[in-house]
Amino acid sequence: MPERSVNFPDRRQFCGVSAAITTSTFMSQVTAQNPATSTPTAQGQEMPTLIHAPRLPPESRLGWALVGLGDFSITQLIPAFSQCQRSKLVALVTGNAEKGRTLARQTGIPERSVYDYSTFNRIADDPRIDVVYIVLPNGLHAEYTVRAAQAGKHVMCEKPMANSVEECRAMMQACEKAGKKLMIAYRAQFETYNRAAIDMLRKRELGTLVSIVADHGRILNPKQLRDQWRMRRTLAGGGSLVDIGIYSLQAARYLCGEEPVEVTAMLHSPPNDQRFREVEETVHFQLRFPSGVIANCSSSYGWCQVKRVRAIASDGWIDLDPATAYSGNRMRIGRGNEQNGRTEERQLQENNQFVAEIDHFSECISNRQTPRTPGEEGLRDVRLIQLIYESARVGRTLRANR
Ligand code: NAD
Repeated sequence: MPERSVNFPDRRQFCGVSAAITTSTFMSQVTAQNPATSTPTAQGQEMPTLIHAPRLPPESRLGWALVGLGDFSITQLIPAFSQCQRSKLVALVTGNAEKGRTLARQTGIPERSVYDYSTFNRIADDPRIDVVYIVLPNGLHAEYTVRAAQAGKHVMCEKPMANSVEECRAMMQACEKAGKKLMIAYRAQFETYNRAAIDMLRKRELGTLVSIVADHGRILNPKQLRDQWRMRRTLAGGGSLVDIGIYSLQAARYLCGEEPVEVTAMLHSPPNDQRFREVEETVHFQLRFPSGVIANCSSSYGWCQVKRVRAIASDGWIDLDPATAYSGNRMRIGRGNEQNGRTEERQLQENNQFVAEIDHFSECISNRQTPRTPGEEGLRDVRLIQLIYESARVGRTLRANR
């Protein structure tokens, strides 16, 4: 399939010249301010560290191939590679040869390392590629993950992991059979403010967590090419829930640190709106967790920009708003009661979530560790997403099998 053309950002962006802080400064600041380096997972295991060893020389870094050169790859991921300490971009996979050549020139990748979808399997013969990063429409994640694993490569796959539980299982099996690692790119789990919120809640700094509210919205714009496949069920797998509601679902799970036992949901799509013939516009869902925490979550393709998460505990609350922006996230903390309450804005050194997640995976591969967000994490979300849709369809609360 031919890849569409886009406007390319300035070359300086790729070279990291425009980065506000140097990578080494960034890493030391993360080290100082992100104490959540061995937070227990929802399942209670210790997580591998997020703190990276010193910057590796280019020849020692793992080589990554980027599959799918849409807006997100071009504006966020390619620039992030220029700041990575343990990872380097060595190959591109695209259906648009001209775009591939231009980006290869701009990023210093040799033209022979630009593949298309029909020559993709030849990555098996390219020893410079250690990891393949799948940034394609959701309905193609499973096929390309399996093909990358069969080519003997580790795989990072964008969220949502896939359109069905069966596809997720096939992806995990293919990677396991090949002896390769699989990570789902849940960038918010690598973002400073989200990590700080998790840490505060785990340490019970605000008492007992009782409630989570998480909302994500944006307008689906059919004039944007990146939104056109999002209107097609086979390519998207669903509507706002799989695209941005997954951030609400993720936040509820990682802030609570448990897996939900019950799910209740309602969907809404405006009648006669052509955008929502195949996928839903709005989803509201509730999750009940074993400790009694209840999460009220939502997502919509019909709202203005909303990326908001709130955790309410017995002695205070944390507001992340925005919670899941690429940059500029904010955190407010409230403590005390009506008579004796105070609110503070917490300011932390912002990190580059993409650099953090990419280098984390390289580090896990080198150190033979399980990544923070492996295939199992993606599968859990896809299972819950299916249950949310099912709850809305049957109109009642459903039990979640953990
Ligand atoms: P996009 O449409 O901008 O890019 C998709 C790329 O896939 C394009 O280059 C397109 O040409 C190519 N492609 C190959 N086969 C295609 C086909 N059959 N139909 C349509 N396009 C095809 O989309 P995007 O916004 O970059 O999303 C890609 C993936 O990245 C999705 O899974 C999405 O959920 C994920 N994503 C994640 C984040 C994040 O913050 N983690 C942000 C944006 C997108």
